[in-house]
Amino acid sequence: MNLHFTNGTIVTPEKIISSGVLSIENDTISHVGQEIQGKNGITIKIPGLLVFPGIIDGHDHLLGTYMPRVGDRRPYRNWLEWDNDLKSSPHYKERQNIESHDLYLLGTYRHLITGVTSVQDHIPHFVRDLFNHNPAVRLVDGYKMAHSVTSFALAWGNGIRQEHEEAVRERKPFITHCSEGYDTETRNSVVTLEKNGAVSEHTVLIHGIAFSDADIDLLAKRKSNVVWCPVSNLYMFNDTAPIKKLLDAGINVMLGTDSPMSGSVNIFEEMLIAKKYYWETYGEDLADETIFNMLTANASRGLFRDDLGSLEKGKKADFIIVRGNVNLPFQSFVRMNYSDIMLVVIDGKVRYGDAGFMELFEELDIPFQKVKVAGSEKLVNGDILGLLKRIRNAVGYRKELPFLPVEPWE
Ligand SMILES: [Zn+2]
Repeated sequence: MNLHFTNGTIVTPEKIISSGVLSIENDTISHVGQEIQGKNGITIKIPGLLVFPGIIDGHDHLLGTYMPRVGDRRPYRNWLEWDNDLKSSPHYKERQNIESHDLYLLGTYRHLITGVTSVQDHIPHFVRDLFNHNPAVRLVDGYKMAHSVTSFALAWGNGIRQEHEEAVRERKPFITHCSEGYDTETRNSVVTLEKNGAVSEHTVLIHGIAFSDADIDLLAKRKSNVVWCPVSNLYMFNDTAPIKKLLDAGINVMLGTDSPMSGSVNIFEEMLIAKKYYWETYGEDLADETIFNMLTANASRGLFRDDLGSLEKGKKADFIIVRGNVNLPFQSFVRMNYSDIMLVVIDGKVRYGDAGFMELFEELDIPFQKVKVAGSEKLVNGDILGLLKRIRNAVGYRKELPFLPVEPWE
């Protein structure tokens, strides 16, 4: 199926095209430009709307998709102290009543309604494969991993050295939590990685709160990648990665929400807190375009997914159509909210949209449910209402989840 989205403002790597055309053929972007090429297909006019690449969330744990946040003994010394509080909390016990595949669905719907089209779910593949059926967004696949870099890390993957070697050989990322806290081993995480030959352009380090200047120099020299999760870090540790030093050193930085039991409600909050933190800490503005890049091109590069993260011919047809000021696209991106998400397309498939796009859903024969998302009338592909019902049945009361402000519309 060919679709041509015309008259929109299209944000491409080279330039912003006013009244442009984005065409897709099946799951691929077939054309980006000023005029429609070819006569076949459906034309959808989107005047006054912005088109961005689908957002890539650099860090989450979909099995941990639940609320409220847990952290009675904050600030913590490392993730393990938090994890102990989590595991002994009534909220964790309540979450245990929910089927794991429903937690995956919950996590991916949480992202879908915010325009996140891909998520890096940090978990061993074999665990994910058990529970991840028909997710609402793309789960980035094909990574090598460790849980973290200390002796008390969970036994995920086949060891740092081997996983990293495989990543280099197979042109994949090697992803691990790193320097998330203040005990000696956690502080020495980058040194330990280096001893294991695991600091390279394939290396993706989540958090990095305790990075030293020497760590940052090494990461910059080796072209390694960092996933910044300011909301989660500030909540658990009252501190976050030395983000200005990382950016000034030219390190490729992505942005991640982490799970909502420690992190942000959604990517909207993550972007705003990132900006606020930067301003309060450094007295300087963190450019909206920098935040946009963290969630698109930088993530594509760090995760070795050349097919994602920008609106260019030949890339995956993952994009979002957003309401905002077409003259201030990046500002609109960073400040968008639920009501502004007008259409979400993943792998060429329309998955979510504003009620104004109902005709398109019908023309493409896409089954949808009518819902109100934070009060706005939206259409969702899949059974999001059934999911909410199952969750409320499982926990035995009408659970409200702030990251899924969804109710039936009719
Ligand atoms: Zn994590």
